[in-house]
Amino acid sequence: MTNDMTNYLEFLMKLKPDLKLKKTYHEIYQDCKEYLKISKDPYFICQNSNIMNIFDIAWVGLTENFSAVSEYYLFTLYWLNAINFEIYRAVIQELETNLILDEEILVYSFWLYTNKKKIKYNYYAFLEYIRKLGVKPQKFSTFSKITQKNISKEILKDEDKEIGREVDRILSNLKNRSQYLEEIASSISPKLLKYLDFHVDQRLLNDLAYYYSKHLSNEIKLKKKISMAEFQKKIENKYKENKFPVVPTVVDPILQSHLSNINAKAASMEKLAQFPKDLIKEYASIQAYSSPSVAQKIRITFLGGGNIGNMGILIQHDNNAILIDYGMSVSNNSIPRWHPSLKYVKAILVTHAHLDHTGGLPYLITPENGKQWYSTQSTKILTEKLLQSTSSIIKMNGITKKKASPLQSTYLKKSHLINLFNVHNTLTPNETFEVSPGFEVSPYHASHVFGSCGYKIDVFGKSIFFTGDFSLDSSELFEGANFPTDSDVTIFDGTYYNRPTPKTDPNTVILQAAETSSRLIIPAFSVGRTQEMIKRLERLRISKNKNIKTTGLAAEVSKVMGIKGKYDIVKDVSIDNFKEGDIVVSGHGMLQGGTVRNLLDDTKDDENTGVLLCGYQAPDTLGFALQNSLPVAKNRYHQKIFSAPISGHTNSDSLNGFISQIEGKKIMVHTPNNTVLRKEHKEILIPDYNREIVLRNKI
Ligand SMILES: [Zn+2]
Ligand SMILES: [Zn+2]
Repeated sequence: MTNDMTNYLEFLMKLKPDLKLKKTYHEIYQDCKEYLKISKDPYFICQNSNIMNIFDIAWVGLTENFSAVSEYYLFTLYWLNAINFEIYRAVIQELETNLILDEEILVYSFWLYTNKKKIKYNYYAFLEYIRKLGVKPQKFSTFSKITQKNISKEILKDEDKEIGREVDRILSNLKNRSQYLEEIASSISPKLLKYLDFHVDQRLLNDLAYYYSKHLSNEIKLKKKISMAEFQKKIENKYKENKFPVVPTVVDPILQSHLSNINAKAASMEKLAQFPKDLIKEYASIQAYSSPSVAQKIRITFLGGGNIGNMGILIQHDNNAILIDYGMSVSNNSIPRWHPSLKYVKAILVTHAHLDHTGGLPYLITPENGKQWYSTQSTKILTEKLLQSTSSIIKMNGITKKKASPLQSTYLKKSHLINLFNVHNTLTPNETFEVSPGFEVSPYHASHVFGSCGYKIDVFGKSIFFTGDFSLDSSELFEGANFPTDSDVTIFDGTYYNRPTPKTDPNTVILQAAETSSRLIIPAFSVGRTQEMIKRLERLRISKNKNIKTTGLAAEVSKVMGIKGKYDIVKDVSIDNFKEGDIVVSGHGMLQGGTVRNLLDDTKDDENTGVLLCGYQAPDTLGFALQNSLPVAKNRYHQKIFSAPISGHTNSDSLNGFISQIEGKKIMVHTPNNTVLRKEHKEILIPDYNREIVLRNKI
């Protein structure tokens, strides 16, 4: 074992004296050495089940205690260069929750890093290093005094400090004079541009890079007429010469000043705008003038698998990736699986606010890793409410930071949630956005809950459509969704696939429940269903002579989403103020807790009180037991039970119609376990965890 290695392990042992290892350092080191031969290609790593297992312990075993052995395995793997920083950072994040990470480790491991890589200390290496470890580069001042002194003495040379000041100057310029982007860009040297990558978001960086490259292209002097290809080479050389960190994605106007000397017909930007998009892509813009290397494969990987639970879909092209949704399973709090390519993800698209699509975001997006997420404004607002409420539930359950799993402690750290909402970008339906170079996204209303969207993603000549949770059927709140069906791949929500469409009219049930119950409890999901029920009660004129009340998160959501009508937002409803003529619509649609559950318990012997279930009831929940008159519920609760079939998902009949219209590859997700495909649907794929679909683009 090398000396540095021993040093480090001993250092860790000092910080964590109660650590008991099942293997000796040496054994672990030898084990890991085996992996040395493995290529660093992330997809290659995926094929090695030993390594995957170790990573899985670190990443997915979030609800369990982190194993000390895997901690060492991971560090050793990193040490042996078999894994990269992003992975190592995931481990450090685990360490952090065990309160090991402090400035001393930071400095110490930087020292190891620079020694190992034989790189010279400089500001950039340091920035890169600490960002990847998960410490915000800007917050130099938050380090302890000793560390600050060490860093500036040991690590930062005078030149580095100069760069640091220059970066600060540009940042304040960007903040105060953002409208003069072009001017600011012209005063930045390419050397500084790469530092900015740590501080500004991808879009701003792209804009800066674009202006900067425009500036750069003016330095090219053409003495004679040259071909387009020759010019392209010149531009690329110029980028290389200047160590240009970003390839701008829109470069056409850069050509403008040179066009008279280029042997090619260039369309004007106005003309170009009239061309069909695909055509422009084929012969202009990106491929013609910029990126020299275009990989051939687009990979779609399902990190959450096909079942209802934790959604996470990774789309990768070359070393660039985006992610759609990053949810948390409501039944066991697990998040999508770890994948080496998560490190390439800069942009995360979020379809809607429900936790099975958003619950993992606080863990994935840390204040330091530069990832940004995108959704509609309503989804942002609702996600904030739902995550905050998750955080307070964890707190309410008395879980302390010390006892919390890494995922829980992420929720308990206020800064994580605050940061999450600082790195959000708004998407608007019917507009197209380039969220990451080469990934163009167009949102479509999904009619599932407020702000819900399906996304069409055009990526290097291929189109992928993901419906998210969606409904083709109209409700009180939305018209049914209208989605394109001509994408190369359509990934769709199959919640009600092959399940009988109920014949009962929900409104008949609601009317009956309201008429025959002296008081009525309506457990409904806080986001969407509560508001749908308020609207229905209004339209059925039930609100006229009953008192509709809502409380808690459901009330907050109704308020921020501007739901009008005759209903009262009340602070709390208890048995003492639950009167005849009251209808309480509130969160916890399956009666797992909250106001509705308290009222249910407190009225259990009253046969005149009604309970109206109005959504999906998962097995193992009290809602399910009541709905199906299981003895465990029937013997205890004597209220009248009603069940109105309402859903935010497409019913089975409409879904079959949609499936038959889809033209390209069909992939179904968000389906219950053991879903059986109909005979005529054998072409549909229900992906397992980590299933990868490869598309080849024509370029
Ligand atoms: Zn949903
Ligand atoms: Zn869902």
